[in-house]
Amino acid sequence: GRHGAVGLEPAGSPMIVCKFGGTSVGDSAAIARTVGIVRSKLEREPVVVVSALAGTTNRLIELAEHAAKGDLIVALAICEELRARHLATITELIGDHASHDDVAAETGAMFDELAHLAEALSVLAHLTPRSHDAVASMGERLSAPIVAAAMAKAGLPAVFVDARRVMITSEDFGRGEPLTDDIAIACRAALAPLLREGKVPVLGGYIGSTRAGVTTTLGRGGSDYSASLFGAAMDAEAIEIWTDVDGMLTADPRVVSGAQLIGHIRFDEAAELANFGAKVLHPSTIAPAVKKGIPVFVFNSRKPEGTGTRITFDAPRTPVRAIAGKTRTVVVKIRSPRMLATPGANADAKVKHWLE
Ligand code: ADP
Ligand code: ASP
Ligand code: MG
Repeated sequence: GRHGAVGLEPAGSPMIVCKFGGTSVGDSAAIARTVGIVRSKLEREPVVVVSALAGTTNRLIELAEHAAKGDLIVALAICEELRARHLATITELIGDHASHDDVAAETGAMFDELAHLAEALSVLAHLTPRSHDAVASMGERLSAPIVAAAMAKAGLPAVFVDARRVMITSEDFGRGEPLTDDIAIACRAALAPLLREGKVPVLGGYIGSTRAGVTTTLGRGGSDYSASLFGAAMDAEAIEIWTDVDGMLTADPRVVSGAQLIGHIRFDEAAELANFGAKVLHPSTIAPAVKKGIPVFVFNSRKPEGTGTRITFDAPRTPVRAIAGKTRTVVVKIRSPRMLATPGANADAKVKHWLE
């Protein structure tokens, strides 16, 4: 049902969440495709969640690491490379539009902030989880206003909303735990009125803030999780994950050629695949959707006419659904009679030494 918790603003009429991953906003051509997809969804009242431009978060983390190591020159070079890429994307998308100068100026100001952060890190010569998040969050802080401006230029009633106002998390920097009650209250206050006015809110995924307003992130790949948290907060009819493959496949297509599309899969199977390494979904994405019984779809933004994957409670059972794998994982098997009834044996310094 579409009933909310006591004291919450009603979620309003049925709406959907459409999340676009890094490759779906990777350059001006990809953003233009994304704008077209959102246009085709307007009557379903979409809330749009976007990742950083493909590769940006990796570069930002490299920037932070170089700065903290004292390689300020390298860090600032990465900052300027990202600045040029974002400004070029803005020019390609809205170069001839009245909003261009404002968006370019805001983007420039964020890059000035990023350069200051790099300088601060190089002076401190130290990277804390909190300052890591200040830098890593920059990708989605940059991408969401750019996508919103591209939509507005294309005639869509898009409105940028800073996700940090609504994605409230614990203070576990680098892996903020979403505070779902706070998120529901903030989402309904900030997003429901926009939807009622026929607007399309555009938010960055992955980023949030503590109750005190300090920027956090949900962990790598967390934009999927943002989308499902917003969907659950708003009692969405559907959560759509738009990415660079046709849907959830029987294996990672980068590893197994000939992997096949899974048309329909159960929540628990999808969650298990995600947990065991199927990068197409962040491992936490399914839980908020399951709680509210909201179907999750995975679609290819390069092939919007595709049927994608539908994730629900009731897909038909099959003996083997898919294969997932994790790289850079070591399994260590320890057998020792002296470990019997010795709680904490694994934490012992000697055991730790072998493990390292
Ligand atoms: P996005 O930037 O859109 O979030 P990701 O790179 O995070 O995209 O996830 C999509 C990628 O997940 C695909 O390109 C694919 O290589 C990988 N992947 C791994 N396992 C699977 C799977 N079982 N089905 C589909 N894609 C998978
Ligand atoms: N940009 C973030 C990352 O690369 C979040 C995401 O894309 O899902 O981890
Ligand atoms: Mg992803």
